Amino acid sequence: MTTIRLVQGDITRESADAIVNAANSSLLGGGGVDGAIHRRGGPAILDECRKLRAARYGKGLPTGQAVATTAGELDARWVIHTVGPVFSAQEDRSGLLASCYRESLRVADELGARTVAFPAISTGVYRYPLDDAARIAVETVRSAETDVEEVRFVLFDERAYEAFAARVR
Ligand code: ADP
Repeated sequence: MTTIRLVQGDITRESADAIVNAANSSLLGGGGVDGAIHRRGGPAILDECRKLRAARYGKGLPTGQAVATTAGELDARWVIHTVGPVFSAQEDRSGLLASCYRESLRVADELGARTVAFPAISTGVYRYPLDDAARIAVETVRSAETDVEEVRFVLFDERAYEAFAARVR
């Protein structure tokens, strides 16, 4: 059984085996949580991202997939980078968002990570409605077959925290 915990705060201050990054497909950093992780984590993470890009993801990491690097100065062993979908009112992209959580947990299992901290993927610049994103995140983690013992959702603001809390209760 995986325990789900909710925390309101900055994911770059968390201590966990793995911290998940809501990356963009370039893997070269960006705004929001991605920028915060690279800022606090230092250049080692970006170096590794560049190498991954050169070796395997020349066209970018596809949406819904996940890949790990070391965590630099963060209080974690790994950063798992995953690319959330940009929200679309015309097209249902919930499967891609669920895939981010499932694939991140699969990578965590490969690494042997037992505690994994997630941000609310796609709910920032990618505009996914918080209530839908929270439901997909919690349902996907609950139904995942994983050896991860604790999934911690680290929500940056109160609105995001409340959206997740409503799904976990
Ligand atoms: P995306 O492009 O996937 O939407 P964003 O980084 O823009 O990614 O936003 C994803 C979520 O991460 C948003 O809910 C945003 O408020 C949140 N966020 C931004 N900075 C941090 C941080 N330091 N720690 C945790 N969550 C953060």
